[in-house]
Amino acid sequence: MSAPSLIVPAGGRFMRRLSSSEASKENMSLGPTVVVPPKHLMAPSSANEVAASIEVARHELEDSAAPSTPSTPPETLVTDKYAYAFDIDGVLIRGGKPIPEAIEAMKVLNGANQYGIKVPYIFVTNGGGKTEQERCVQLSQQLQIEVSPGQFICGHTPMREMAERYNTVLVVGGEGEKCRQVAEGYGFKDVVTPGDIIKDNQDTTPFRKLTEEEYRHSRARNFGETEIEAIFVFADSRDWASDQQIILDLLMSKNGRLGTRSETFEEGPPVFFSHNDVVWSASHDLTRIGMGALRVSLEAMFKAVTGKDLKTTAFGKPQIGTFQFATRLLQQWRKDTHSIDSPPDTVYFVGDTPESDIRGTNEFDNCAENNWYSILVRTGVFQEGTKPRFTPRATVDNVLEAVKHGMEREYKKALKASFIDVDGVQGSAIEE
Ligand SMILES: [Mg+2]
Repeated sequence: MSAPSLIVPAGGRFMRRLSSSEASKENMSLGPTVVVPPKHLMAPSSANEVAASIEVARHELEDSAAPSTPSTPPETLVTDKYAYAFDIDGVLIRGGKPIPEAIEAMKVLNGANQYGIKVPYIFVTNGGGKTEQERCVQLSQQLQIEVSPGQFICGHTPMREMAERYNTVLVVGGEGEKCRQVAEGYGFKDVVTPGDIIKDNQDTTPFRKLTEEEYRHSRARNFGETEIEAIFVFADSRDWASDQQIILDLLMSKNGRLGTRSETFEEGPPVFFSHNDVVWSASHDLTRIGMGALRVSLEAMFKAVTGKDLKTTAFGKPQIGTFQFATRLLQQWRKDTHSIDSPPDTVYFVGDTPESDIRGTNEFDNCAENNWYSILVRTGVFQEGTKPRFTPRATVDNVLEAVKHGMEREYKKALKASFIDVDGVQGSAIEE
């Protein structure tokens, strides 16, 4: 049997050759740098601020004990035919630890494979609660590779595009002040937290008192004079009861002014969730309830209290907008790091949640110009023995198998396209 590397068609746009001796100024960015997210994906913010946070991320990467990028041969071929997009929780990480096959899967994509190629990839998670830079530093350590904000989308990333639309907003969820910082980093001008509201009037939440630290960080403000224009649930609520009370107060208010009550219950601010996953895969053996559950609960509660239906909006997967965002990110990433300026023919999306990962990929495949191929893994939300509500193109045990599945599929496609028979003899092209 011939060596696979001989069979892969040379030239054309199948792959691009990159080597240290051929390194140009453009592809030098393949080195140990953290790439700034594409400008058009960023809300307007201070360039210095972005540069500083990237510098912090780079510094932490260099200081971290994580091994550097897996060693690759001096010459590495980067395919421009296909790419991967990965969900994170339940696919690569579970309960804060990498899933065993995840590290190997990344090595395979980075050149440790029988085809001698590298495959570009991005990460698309519904999770959040930290800045993209912080999450990339963490993911780099967990997966033992360098992950750049330029290849990363989390649930709240698309919310940066809303920063221009609203002035004063309530941001809910996450640890401490983290989500306020994320929102301000996105360019939101006036960010209020539930802590600020409780600090102003502690009777707001009868059973929740702020800790000393929360009190110190919460900002004093007169909410009698504040109109909250929109509510953003950035990350999982740490205190459902008080967060829901505050959201409900605003939904029932006149124009987002606390302490008022609308007669129609139709004058409250809109509510946006960074995703809609009802359950997710954490360290417990069984799935845990997530932000989608808060959304369901809030809508039911609003109905129970007001008798009216509440319409809320969720970002994240399976929303088509998130996949469009991923397309733009992937295009920019491939251009910046691999000098590839055309979209991939196929994007393999690897996820563990049929309702968000598989549904979103399949629906996007129906409307995208290129192919989006869904692969479901058995290491997360989906469990063997159940029937997924949305049918993936392939179901495999883990992320390593998902990577191998796509690479083998592409290899077979390339073989077919080049008319090579099993003896490794190239047939002559007979098509016009
Ligand atoms: Mg997941």
